Amino acid sequence: MGKYGKNKRNVRLKKKWLKRRRKEVKNTIDYMLAEAEISGLIPWAPVKIEYDKLDQYRGTAELKIDSDGKEYFLITLEIDLLDGSAHGENLACLIFCHELAHVLTWHPNKKTERGLAKYHGIHGPDFMYMQGTLLNILIEP
Ligand SMILES: [Zn+2]
Repeated sequence: MGKYGKNKRNVRLKKKWLKRRRKEVKNTIDYMLAEAEISGLIPWAPVKIEYDKLDQYRGTAELKIDSDGKEYFLITLEIDLLDGSAHGENLACLIFCHELAHVLTWHPNKKTERGLAKYHGIHGPDFMYMQGTLLNILIEP
């Protein structure tokens, strides 16, 4: 029997706390995207952020097309990072910077994007520079 197992009120409070913590972390990530844009780092397509169970990575960035045929970036972060812990929150912020660096260095021309990925790999010098810039701007020292 765990710490909260015996008392229904405690279970309810813990659930309420976790819900609030999740919302806090999601707000922090949304704020980071806004702060990047305010700093002048503006993606060429809108960015949507989702939280889901991922199997291979803790975060992904994809270029998608919505039902109106408009392009947007989808950043998905591993939902387990929203476990309420400071460790999970810090990791979510770092992984978000990584995925946003992909978005901000994504070439809008598909042929050029494929060529750059072939030449540099997906973590080329432009990506590394952007990731460093985002870490500087968005992660407090
Ligand atoms: Zn990557």
